[in-house]
Amino acid sequence: MTDQSQKLASEAEARDVAEDAREDGWTHPSFAREMFLGRLRMDLIDPYPTDPSAGDDATESFLKKLEQVLRDHVDAAAIDRDGNVPESVLDALRSIGALGIKIPKQYGGLGLSQSAYNRAIEMVSAHCASTATMMSGHQSIGVPQPLKMFGTDEQKQRLLPRLARGELSAFALTEPNAGSDPSNVATRAERSSDGKHWVLNGEKLWCTNGPIAKHMIVMAQTPPKEVDGKQKRQISAFIVSTDTPGVETVHRCEFMGLRGIQNGVMRFTDVRIPAENLLWKEGSGLKLALMTLNIGRLTLPSCCVGAAKKALDISRRWAAERFQWGATVGKHDEVAGLIADMAASVYAMQAVADLGVRWVDNGEFDIRLEAAIAKLFNTERGWTVINDCFSVRGGRGYETEESLLRRGDSPEPVERMLRDQRIFTVVEGSTQIMHLYIAREALDAHVTAAGALLQPRASLLAKTKAFFKAGWFYAKWYPKLWLGWGWWPSHDEWDDLGTHIRYLDRTSRRLARAIFHCMILHRAGLERRQRLLARVVDIGAEMFAMATVCARAKADAKAAGHQKAIAMADLYCRGARRRIGDLFKRIRSNDDRKSYNLAQQVMMGEHDWLEAGIMTGAPGQANAPAREPEPSGARDG
Ligand SMILES: Cc1cc2nc3c(=O)[nH]c(=O)nc-3n(C[C@H](O)[C@H](O)[C@H](O)COP(=O)(O)OP(=O)(O)OC[C@H]3O[C@@H](n4cnc5c(N)ncnc54)[C@H](O)[C@@H]3O)c2cc1C
Repeated sequence: MTDQSQKLASEAEARDVAEDAREDGWTHPSFAREMFLGRLRMDLIDPYPTDPSAGDDATESFLKKLEQVLRDHVDAAAIDRDGNVPESVLDALRSIGALGIKIPKQYGGLGLSQSAYNRAIEMVSAHCASTATMMSGHQSIGVPQPLKMFGTDEQKQRLLPRLARGELSAFALTEPNAGSDPSNVATRAERSSDGKHWVLNGEKLWCTNGPIAKHMIVMAQTPPKEVDGKQKRQISAFIVSTDTPGVETVHRCEFMGLRGIQNGVMRFTDVRIPAENLLWKEGSGLKLALMTLNIGRLTLPSCCVGAAKKALDISRRWAAERFQWGATVGKHDEVAGLIADMAASVYAMQAVADLGVRWVDNGEFDIRLEAAIAKLFNTERGWTVINDCFSVRGGRGYETEESLLRRGDSPEPVERMLRDQRIFTVVEGSTQIMHLYIAREALDAHVTAAGALLQPRASLLAKTKAFFKAGWFYAKWYPKLWLGWGWWPSHDEWDDLGTHIRYLDRTSRRLARAIFHCMILHRAGLERRQRLLARVVDIGAEMFAMATVCARAKADAKAAGHQKAIAMADLYCRGARRRIGDLFKRIRSNDDRKSYNLAQQVMMGEHDWLEAGIMTGAPGQANAPAREPEPSGARDG
């Protein structure tokens, strides 16, 4: 049972904690940020960045070895069935350096690029999502990543060689009362009286690799700090060695998918952490976690690309082979539509994922919005692609691969893939939280310009000052949103994709205008209009995918000397434009208020008549008797 006795942070406190943990300032360019401000900066993504790992001997030879390990050692069906990635798989991965891909060579790692890492994850993910998640839990968010970013030389010298050798690590932020909202972290660390240790107490939930990790990065509350006469919550990050007395796994969690991962509830009882294991600064733990996630978030999009490619492979073979109603099923219009959508989506997902990854290697861009959009877009689209593959496979999509094999059918793992994929829209920032995060970053220029006008708790004086400051910013910015050449024959260098670039050009200004008009209309109330913000963000994500897929197609067509990529990008953009049109319509015309009010009534039990005829109530409660159907007249009351 969740312990609800802890005093949970109020909405305002939670917002303050999130704001404090935000990375502020924009020192490097971001395509997405510009786009939300109405400026289509294709020059930032065209030419589409090249893959620094392509043709690199060390990368290519590593990927060959990795493929061999997957073939020889990784039995994905057995891992799923047995609920375990066996030690033999870990050893095989260790033997080729696959658990230290991005750790610099000087510390014993392979020292490969982010691009190489993501190519590896994409390949593993297509084969076995549990193995990919274990690798990613260690390398994307586990100890090596924050250690590289924030560790001292001494910490790196001490730990990176061990991590590179394959001592697994984990990232422990979530707790029973701190899921999406980290302000409720209740795990505490107190400094010992001699200052040599921190003493850690608390419990972490759903810690991937936790039960088998040798090292963990643990976010814990440290004593509050007084700022402007108020006590401020402080969260700090610690590297915890799991062989320290007091660290225990109290429960191994089991899930619908990713059944091979070792994920657990970790308990810390008076765990003495050496003072030198504080990572970065006291009180910076949440910022560290969020900055780690900014890069770590790039892994899931590549996982989704791997899985979506596999789904496409399965679907196209089956659609061309399965004969029903006088033709192969792929000749039937509806199934053909699914295959085309899947193909175009795979290409868009690849373009979206790789941009952020290559920008990390380049080092000259701010990727926080691009990574968040990639996480949002690829996890949602990846789910659609695998769900479509499930439809193409019909009943065989629902049957386990082992059952298919036992009765002599081709053991395609669609049932497992569907189970594995579902959680990706939740972990590392759920779709709803990504909407809020992207909206906050996209609105940052407005928050800076309009400041107090957008804050519910600001004083009248602060609002008046903000009004004049904002007036100056908007007097310069807003008129530009009505000027442009988005309908004019321009962007000729894009050939057949020029029409989409012109569309993006005028639509980025339309999006910026829509954001501004929403701000005027809702002012400080805008942050509560989440569904409105979600539509704005989804429009931005669709536009971002259109822009990256066009840039990628232009580069791919040039390199390949044929137009296949252009046709793929064109189809993708056509669908995206329709979806964007619908989203704009629903910004103007929607049932948001009515549906919000109805939801509150439903939660108050005012519509429990809908549940008539079944046994209701939480599992474990005394069975509530099945409700008698209400006379239909009651429904109108
Ligand atoms: C398989 C698996 C592996 C995981 N691995 C790790 C790990 O290694 N380390 C770790 O620290 N954590 C891990 N997690 C935890 C994961 O990151 C959380 O599940 C996630 O952050 C969401 O938290 P929650 O499940 O408590 O959802 P809640 O925060 O309780 O949210 C419930 C629902 O409400 C929505 N919601 C919440 N707040 C808002 C809001 N303000 N506005 C709109 N909607 C909102 C959410 O989107 C969600 O739909 C893992 C979880 C799973 C299942």
